[in-house]
Amino acid sequence: MTQTQEHVQIARVTHWLSGAPVASTSGRSAPVYNPATGEVQAHVDLASLQEVDHAVEIAKAAFPAWRATALSRRAEIMFKFRDLVDRHRDDIARMLTKEHGKVHSDALGEVARGLENVEFACGVPHLLKGGFSEGASRGVDVYSIRQPLGVVAGITPFNFPAMVPLWMLANALACGNTFILKPSEKDPSVSLLLAELLKQAGLPDGVFGVVQGDKLAVDRLLEHPDVQAVSFVGSTPIAKYVYETGTKHGKRVQALGGAKNHMVVLPDADLGMAADAAVSAAYGSAGERCMAISAVVAVGGIADDLVAAIAERIPKLKVGPGSDPDAEMGPLISGEHRDRVAGYVTHAPQEGATVVVDGARHGVEGDGFFYGPALLDHVKPGMRCYEDEIFGPVLGVVRVETYEEAVNLVNANPFGNGVAIFTRDGGAARQFQYDVQVGMVGVNVPIPVPVAYYSFGGWKASLFGDTHMYGPEGINFYTRAKVVTSRWPDPSTSKVDLGFPRTR
Ligand code: NAD
Repeated sequence: MTQTQEHVQIARVTHWLSGAPVASTSGRSAPVYNPATGEVQAHVDLASLQEVDHAVEIAKAAFPAWRATALSRRAEIMFKFRDLVDRHRDDIARMLTKEHGKVHSDALGEVARGLENVEFACGVPHLLKGGFSEGASRGVDVYSIRQPLGVVAGITPFNFPAMVPLWMLANALACGNTFILKPSEKDPSVSLLLAELLKQAGLPDGVFGVVQGDKLAVDRLLEHPDVQAVSFVGSTPIAKYVYETGTKHGKRVQALGGAKNHMVVLPDADLGMAADAAVSAAYGSAGERCMAISAVVAVGGIADDLVAAIAERIPKLKVGPGSDPDAEMGPLISGEHRDRVAGYVTHAPQEGATVVVDGARHGVEGDGFFYGPALLDHVKPGMRCYEDEIFGPVLGVVRVETYEEAVNLVNANPFGNGVAIFTRDGGAARQFQYDVQVGMVGVNVPIPVPVAYYSFGGWKASLFGDTHMYGPEGINFYTRAKVVTSRWPDPSTSKVDLGFPRTR
C-alpha cells in the first residue's frame, strides 16, 4: 500500500459548526492513536485563529434566538438529548474505548455519569426560578432573575471525552447560552457524536459548536472579546494558565486542575474492604482519573497487612485491550505518557521507596501503550513519586503512626481534589470531614465524585476560580443574577423626594 492510499483510509476528525461537520482549511492536524495497538487511526483538524473566530461568530449570532427560546422548549430538547444519549450509550462507549483505551464497562460508566448531568439540566425551568419579595417597601416588589451569559466555551481533557463535556454543555445550553467545545486532541471523535445527538434532539444549528484544536485555539478562545466564560478541566499548570489568561481578558473562568488523592486507612478499618477499594480506585481506567487514588495512607500498625492484601489482588487483574470483554484495565493514552509513568516506578528505589509490584510486567503483547498496575511502599513526601501527579496505574503507600499525621500529610499536599477515609469509627470519619482541606471527601467510598445535583470541584491547586462545576454551582456559573426593584405607582401619591430610598 502506498502512503497516499494509507492516508485515504485514515479517518479525519473535523470541526462541527452551524449544525454540520466542517473540515478545517488550516493545513494543521494531529494524529489520533488507538492506544491498544499503537496505530494512528485518525487525524484531527487543528483550528486556525480565523476558524476559532468564525465559530465564535456563529455562536454569537445564534444566541439571541436561543436565549429567547421558552424554558419549556429548552427543557424538552434536553429530555430528547437525554433519551438519545441513553440509546447510544454503547456507541459512545465503543468510541471512547477506541480512542482513549479504557475498557468497555468503564466507558459505559463514564457515559452514565455524564448522562446524570443531562438529567439535571432537564430541570432547568425549576433551576432558574428566582426569588420574589412582595411589598419590600410600600408598593414596591423586589425579585431576582438569572440570565444566560452569551457565548461560553468548554476546554476538556483526554481522560473523560464524553463525561466532562456533558458536565459543562448540558447546563450551559439549558440556561440559554451558546456553547463552543474544544475537546482534547487526543480523543476528539466523541465530541462530534454528541453534536449529532444534540442536533437530532432539536437543538437549533449554531447553538452548539465544536472547534478541534490545540493551544492556538485555546488561546484565541481565552482572548476573544465575544466569549463570556470558559470552563476548563485539565492539568494544574494549564488550569492556572487558563484561569489567569481568561480572567485577564475579563471572562468568568472555572479551571479544574490535577490531583493527588489520598486514601487514609485507620487501624480499625476492614482491611479486605480497604484493599478492594484501593485496587479499584487506583487501577480503574489505568489510573487516568482525576479522582483516582494514588496514595494510600496506612495509619498505625496495619501497613504490612494492607500492602500484602493489595499486592495479593494485583495479579488477578486482567490487563488488555478495552474491546476485550474480560479486560479490566486498558492501555495508557500514549507511548510517551506510558514511558513517563514507568519512569516513576523505575526511579522509586533511588528515592528510598520499595517496588512491591512493577507495572512493566503486564503480559500484553504488541505495540499498545500498556503498563500494568504498580505498587510502591515506603513512599514519603519529597519523593517525586509522591509529589507529582503520575496519572497512571501507580499506587504508593505512605506509612504514618497517627490520625493527626495522616491529616497533616493530606493537608500539606498542594492538591485538594478528592480524599477518602476508611474506618468503622463514625466519630473519626466525622472529625476527618471537618479537618481535611479537600473539596470532595469519601467515607468508605474511594472515588467520591458528587452526584449531578451537587457540584464537583477540588480545593487548592485542583481548582482555579471560585465556582465548582455542574450541579447548582454550574447553573450559577452559566448565568448572571439580576435583581429588579419595581413599583407600579398610584399617581395620586407621587411626589419629589431627594432622600436616599429606604424601605422603612
Ligand atoms: P491537559 O492540561 O494537557 O489538557 C487539557 C486541555 O488543555 C486540552 O483540551 C488541551 O488541548 C489543552 N491544552 C494543553 N496544553 C495547553 C497549553 N499549553 N495551552 C493551552 N491549552 C492547552 O490535560 P490532559 O492531559 O488532557 O488531562 C489530564 C489532566 O486533567 C490530569 O492532570 C487530570 O488530573 C486532570 N483532570 C482533572 C479533572 C478535575 O475535575 N479536576 C478531571 C479530569 C482530568
